[in-house]
Amino acid sequence: MVRRIGSGKLVIATHNAGKLKEIAALLAPYGVDCISAGALGLPEPEETGTSFVENALLKARAAAEGSGLAALADDSGLSVAALDGKPGVYTADWAERQWFEGDPGRDWYMAMGKVEGLLAQKGPDADRSAAFHCVLAIAWPDGEHAVYEGRAPGSVTWPPRGELGFGYDPVFVPEGREQTFAEIDPDEKHRISHRADAFARFVAEQFG
Ligand code: IMP
Repeated sequence: MVRRIGSGKLVIATHNAGKLKEIAALLAPYGVDCISAGALGLPEPEETGTSFVENALLKARAAAEGSGLAALADDSGLSVAALDGKPGVYTADWAERQWFEGDPGRDWYMAMGKVEGLLAQKGPDADRSAAFHCVLAIAWPDGEHAVYEGRAPGSVTWPPRGELGFGYDPVFVPEGREQTFAEIDPDEKHRISHRADAFARFVAEQFG
């Protein structure tokens, strides 16, 4: 029997206001009252895991232990088959502009270019299949936890196409489509994305 969050307070293990708003809206119909780890003044743990599951769990556990409440965390990224699953948990790090002092922003074109450069080294016949992953983890203060994994299968294309979305969207073509995630209407992307898949599994088990 799976443990359920039920209605009541749930800590969302994020300091990102946009993420909190999106998750709070998704859970409002189930009577869940979301509060962010940032609003509670909880520190952000270092993401030292080697998988999406490990990172989602360590963020959820830190928030549950720090708040004494059930906590939900997510971790996501892109895995390219021919690159042994890279960038994987380093998806955001590959965009880090470490060498430009005073400009700590992320350069997604550079990150997409790094993926393409590594694929090009594999030759023209390289397997370009890839998948976006999203893991949602719930942790309770007593240590119990549950994990929900979502996936959007597809392939990596070059050059980047489209202006919508964010991150690696311009080089990701979801399975069965010709457009990239950055060319697909956002409402449509939200229906077929790795996040939608993970949330559907989470909602089905927790509130179904
Ligand atoms: P995190 O889950 O917040 O650690 O972020 C993981 C990284 O994965 C993000 O910074 C994005 O670069 C990438 N990512 C996750 N989901 C998507 C998506 O839907 N489109 C494009 N990039 C994504």
